[in-house]
Amino acid sequence: MTTPRITLNDGTTIPQLGFGVFRVDPEETERIVSDALEVGYRHIDTAAIYGNEIGVGRAIAASGIPRDELYITTKLWNSDQGTQSAIDAMDLSLEKLGLDHVDLYLIHWPRPDLDRYLESWHTLEQLKADGKTTSIGVSNFHIPHLERVIGESGTVPAVDQIELHPAFAQRPIREYAASKGIAIEAWGPLGQGKYDLFGMPAVADAARAHGVSPAQAVIRWHLQHGIIVFPKSNSRERIAQNFDVFGFELTAAEMAAIDGLDQGMRVGSNPDEATL
Ligand code: NAD
Repeated sequence: MTTPRITLNDGTTIPQLGFGVFRVDPEETERIVSDALEVGYRHIDTAAIYGNEIGVGRAIAASGIPRDELYITTKLWNSDQGTQSAIDAMDLSLEKLGLDHVDLYLIHWPRPDLDRYLESWHTLEQLKADGKTTSIGVSNFHIPHLERVIGESGTVPAVDQIELHPAFAQRPIREYAASKGIAIEAWGPLGQGKYDLFGMPAVADAARAHGVSPAQAVIRWHLQHGIIVFPKSNSRERIAQNFDVFGFELTAAEMAAIDGLDQGMRVGSNPDEATL
């Protein structure tokens, strides 16, 4: 099955379903990412702070999959925001990944208290011009942060990667992003297992109706909303299950029922306050 692709505002395309490696043990990353590549994933979402870029790079090298068939994202950590520090951080990420470029490079958090995200954004523009990343975007940016980078640089981020799952559906940012042509990527798409998403009737009923797992129903909800999604699992069985989501479609009523679970319930840090 070829994963559907979303066209970004810079004209490139990204596989809509990928594999995330947050909290994947660096020692196990090569094996787990190799499993994901064998299952068929071609989009991997990592970050410098995850400490596992070396394992991701080893799995890529061992796979023998042509580079242009893979989509690799990594992220600039907060303490490296700036100009030379960000250039150095990107070079280190590329070295660890064993790549000469990534497909997408993101500012991981805005950290408004540091007030360096605008400077960092200009650095990402330069890294793109230098060919070290094909696309540039942001993560955990709220509307005022997006407005500032767009207003000051004139460059619209290709994506904003934000916490997004049925109980925290982020409608205002999704609407703003759609109006600007920014694609939305969901992190914590399954709620990171921090609340009983899979037991909620809207999810459990949809899953039962289609003979799939609740996780598959939730991934489908993201896909049908046009959201880019990369669930994480260490288990090969679940990695395969999460990729097997193209043989069914949620009805409009099932989508609406899952939409109804939104309670504005964040499970991660608030980007306005985070000092990670
Ligand atoms: P997630 O919502 O994908 O949840 C992962 C958890 O769900 C796993 O620990 C696993 O126990 C469970 N799970 C996965 N598949 C399952 C299945 N089929 N059945 C039952 N349980 C299942 O959370 P996440 O890993 O935090 O988010 C996905 C990716 O988003 C990350 O790996 C990372 O790449 C990215 N991310 C980015 C940020 C950011 O600040 N930009 C923050 C967190 C995560």
